[in-house]
Amino acid sequence: MCTNPTNTETDSPTSEPLGRAAGCLDPATPLEELVRRATELTAEHFTPPGGSGWRMLLYAPLYLSSHCVNHCAYCGFRAPEAIQRKHLSVDEALRQADILQDRGFEHLLLVAGDFPRLTTTEYFVEIIRSLVERGVRPAVEIAPQTAGSYAEMAAAGACGVTLYQETYNEQLYTLYHPRGSKTSYQWRLEGLRRAAGAGIGRLGLGVLLGLADPREDLLALLRHGDDLQSALPGRTVAFSLPRIHEAPAGFETPYPIDDETFVRLYCTLRIVFPRAELVLSTRESVVLRNRLAKICITQLSAGSSTVPGGYEDGSAQSHATSPAVGVAGQFPVTDDRSAAEMAEWLCKAGFSIAWNTPAE
Ligand code: SF4
Repeated sequence: MCTNPTNTETDSPTSEPLGRAAGCLDPATPLEELVRRATELTAEHFTPPGGSGWRMLLYAPLYLSSHCVNHCAYCGFRAPEAIQRKHLSVDEALRQADILQDRGFEHLLLVAGDFPRLTTTEYFVEIIRSLVERGVRPAVEIAPQTAGSYAEMAAAGACGVTLYQETYNEQLYTLYHPRGSKTSYQWRLEGLRRAAGAGIGRLGLGVLLGLADPREDLLALLRHGDDLQSALPGRTVAFSLPRIHEAPAGFETPYPIDDETFVRLYCTLRIVFPRAELVLSTRESVVLRNRLAKICITQLSAGSSTVPGGYEDGSAQSHATSPAVGVAGQFPVTDDRSAAEMAEWLCKAGFSIAWNTPAE
């Protein structure tokens, strides 16, 4: 059972890594100092032998379904939104995967809303198994599952589970998740431990920046990561800090995060977890993604679409809204460089590009 990471007094962290985090988050610590240290640590731990730049994994999200029973206040897929929705059949999902494989991707993140009648364990397992047969290493970003369900996905070849807590402030969590299966804070909190116990090797944690005090949420996130690593050594831990840029009408981001704070938070993650994968999505701008890639990021999505069915044959670009059916995306993509354009930039910047995760 996971303890709630917010139960420890956030202003007086007890462990040495958390003490380090508190120092990094102190505005009196110059950002340049953190950037320098984070860059050194990333280079030290992620540069392949004989390489000059560190390894950058490129991946793509594959949105399977925009149907969702939940009412998350900040999400474009929330049940009350009057949007055109789509649930891909297994064949449609595999067709999307073919397009992404043609663009070079071998690591795909399967993303879906929570709609139990359609997003069943059998559905995910069939897609995972078929992708593995095609040479893809899939991970899932879906609703928290039972241990049995995770075990079936692991047996089918799922290499990772991404499950963001959104915020570790339980009171605010309750406010933002008023209805649906996601109302249970504890079930979500314990999801990654169930996944790891069921044989999943890569664990993706994160908070949705903008929902709560970023310093408190980051410290709680670090505690959660520390807790998982101590209890389940040998797993790969990955952190991501998605930031709210656009939300459904009526939702005002209560804790907007500026770019400098955003960079500070990522540097803190690197300094406290030198070997963790740090992930950055296409929500952020080209300028900021390029900047952070050179400091601490080790996994970038590219050429992304947040629409089920948003990847089109014969086009390098992806769509914010599927042109064929008018299906809506979960959030707007800001960096719309194609996979090839992203790879070209990384090459010129001296990175060593990987299209798949290493086998655990
Ligand atoms: S964040 Fe996830 S669970 Fe919540 S409404 Fe959006 S798709 Fe559904």
